[in-house]
Amino acid sequence: MSGFSFSLLARDGAARRGRIETAHGAVETPAFMPVGTAATVKAMRPEDVRATGAQIILANTYHLMLRPSAERIAALGGLHKFMNWPGPILTDSGGFQVMSLAKLRKLKESGVTFRSHLDGTKFELTPERAVEIQHLLGADIAMAFDECTPFPAEEAAALRSMELSMRWAERSKRAYRARPGHALFGIVQGSVYPALRRRSAAALCDIGFDGYAVGGLAVGEGQETMFAVLDETAPALPEDRPRYLMGVGKPDDLVGAVRRGIDLFDCVLPTRSGRTAQAFTRRGTVNLRNARHAADARPLDAECGCAACAGYSRAYLHHIVRAGEMLAAMLLTAHNLRYYQDLMAGLRGAIDAGAIDAFAARFAAEQAKGDIPPP
Ligand SMILES: [Zn+2]
Repeated sequence: MSGFSFSLLARDGAARRGRIETAHGAVETPAFMPVGTAATVKAMRPEDVRATGAQIILANTYHLMLRPSAERIAALGGLHKFMNWPGPILTDSGGFQVMSLAKLRKLKESGVTFRSHLDGTKFELTPERAVEIQHLLGADIAMAFDECTPFPAEEAAALRSMELSMRWAERSKRAYRARPGHALFGIVQGSVYPALRRRSAAALCDIGFDGYAVGGLAVGEGQETMFAVLDETAPALPEDRPRYLMGVGKPDDLVGAVRRGIDLFDCVLPTRSGRTAQAFTRRGTVNLRNARHAADARPLDAECGCAACAGYSRAYLHHIVRAGEMLAAMLLTAHNLRYYQDLMAGLRGAIDAGAIDAFAARFAAEQAKGDIPPP
């Protein structure tokens, strides 16, 4: 079993090209992680996810602790075996979903008690328990337990929340049992306040993590503010550790964040949109439900190599969307994940070539053109 490592291979401005090694294989960065909430990337078999170019996926601690439970998954050989995904897996700590999904939450210094949104069963999640669950799941990359500061937050409230997360980060680190090829990441909080973000980054560096995430963004602050926070936060993080922007985002968010020094991303957008007839393309977002596609024999995106674009017309995709067929969600999810992976591969190639500015300019110009006109 190889050790966990991050190698910085190239740089272009603040953008970084790197490679993460884990117990379950390598991840070329910048990388996008498809979200496998309940130990499945919805509508996709693991081999289909891999075929889009994905090297690492994310799974959610909150959902898996409720059902089927971390202990059940551990008894069945761990998450990789359980879901038949042999590659690297990152798990979140459950904090974000507790805040957004669970009922009757009570936040205390020790952790959070809550009732399951599924059946009302009472649970407690603490830094120690969140780390233990992620250990039982066998995550290659585990996340420290934190409070995702609600947005908007006054500076005093954001400070209290950030300081609680830093105490929880320290407890997460103490509870973490190091294994070869596995890693624990800390999470920077501090809402939209640069001074708080820098203090949070410094506190995490003092504790010492294998990688550093930026949390509490893409929660309604807008892209300009998010980029401003990244401009302040990324330089405060160690050069030699991976940086992960949690829960982000749209294709232009990814391009902008990579240019600001982010290495890892996850977001439900490509998979969720695939189930609601929204497709991401080189020329912007396309709604397959729209009648303009009804008689269009052309592929969704002629430059895309996914199963949906190789074998089917826009007219057919439109038809199965309107008919509510399962295949629509499967094909459009495959397309969207492939689009995201192609975008990341393009960014990696551009950083290698020292051409990130030209790549970003071309990306923005293509997106601005909008979808091809109907025939
Ligand atoms: Zn495609």
